[in-house]
Amino acid sequence: MNKPLKISSYDKINYDIEMYTKPEFVYIPLENKNGNTYKYLVKEGEYVYKGGVVAVTNDDFPVHSSVSGYVVCGSNKIISSGKKIKCVVIQNDFKEKYEKSKLKKKDISKYSKESFINDLRENGISGLGGADYPTFLKYGIDNIKCLIVNGVECEPFVSCDKAVMYNYAECILEAIDNILEIMKIPRAIIAVMSNDFKSIKMFNKYIKTYPNISLVFVDNAFPNGWERLVVRNTLGIEYDRYPSEKGIIVNNVSTIYAIYEMFKYNRPLTERVITITGPGVKKKRNVKVKIGALASEIINNLDGYRDIKNPLFIVGGPMMGKSVPTDDVVITKDVTSLLVISDNFEKNLPCIKCGKCTYVCPSNIMPVLIMNNIDNVDNLKKLECNKCIGCGLCSYICPSKIEVREFVNIAKEKVNHR
Ligand code: SF4
Ligand code: SF4
Repeated sequence: MNKPLKISSYDKINYDIEMYTKPEFVYIPLENKNGNTYKYLVKEGEYVYKGGVVAVTNDDFPVHSSVSGYVVCGSNKIISSGKKIKCVVIQNDFKEKYEKSKLKKKDISKYSKESFINDLRENGISGLGGADYPTFLKYGIDNIKCLIVNGVECEPFVSCDKAVMYNYAECILEAIDNILEIMKIPRAIIAVMSNDFKSIKMFNKYIKTYPNISLVFVDNAFPNGWERLVVRNTLGIEYDRYPSEKGIIVNNVSTIYAIYEMFKYNRPLTERVITITGPGVKKKRNVKVKIGALASEIINNLDGYRDIKNPLFIVGGPMMGKSVPTDDVVITKDVTSLLVISDNFEKNLPCIKCGKCTYVCPSNIMPVLIMNNIDNVDNLKKLECNKCIGCGLCSYICPSKIEVREFVNIAKEKVNHR
């Protein structure tokens, strides 16, 4: 694989977490960024409790309401894929009323493997590192040898995982210890970036009481947080499609914190920490928000925007995120950050065939050739465009400022929907 890239424009890391948990409305999109669709379980005018199930996927993975209140008419909003999707809308009554079943705590010493996996599903726990993959599916394998907790947050400007590690290190360790016990996993590794000194310091403060958990440092380069690289850089192990082939589970560190809250309060995943940053906002911050809140409402109710020319909103990090023209964006579980910048990039000069996009590609494919064969689906298959992980390095490195990754995305859609 090509060498990960040192990207120099890292902000000073922000470790504080602020709160904005009082949105007037929350929006539940009926499709997620991976294209999976949900079906409604509620009707207009119905009362919904906080933690109540509002929609489910075809295989019964639920989406919960993050507020209590009434279902009002539907609305179309932008999601992290950049698509405008129909949403169920719930008007917050600000009473934070939970369903009765969610007020009873569980005794986690009585958890079996099956009840743990079932609770992960019922509480809608999914990958908070950007994947939104249901976590219960990862634990459905036998003989797990190692749990890797991925704290390698390598996207420039994004600091929500670092803030979660710094503020909740003790809770994260407790949750990992409980998972090891329930799932009979012999050990866990927490992978963190070598320059994430404050998180490292907090883990070191508590980790001595957990002999089966160790801390491993990974070079601060992009895309070292990619699951495949995390497994390689911590255990030296390669796999074909999934780490589970080798008895390894990888969970994002914020997902582990969501599991901690599930253990502690018997409550579903309804809030997450996101980073709001960029020259277009008055204050760069990490903020805990309700899932389903609108980015526009969150930012306007904090300090608001700076006056910049042609504002462009990037949902997710600057490398792997998606640029959208407005802030009318729903914060779903996969949204790690919102970056507001000025859209003054020179775009789409001719390709000079420098080969840099191929050189940097961590998936060892040839983005320039994919781009040049965009209308030939047979060639796109041969060029293995599906191996792309969407890291954005090809666009970042391109001297002609071509959005090479977008061509590869189109190629993937063509190959997969043929
Ligand atoms: S976005 Fe895809 S094609 Fe471009 S460098 Fe990353 S993995 Fe390679
Ligand atoms: S990096 Fe840009 S200019 Fe160079 S080969 Fe790739 S697409 Fe062409």
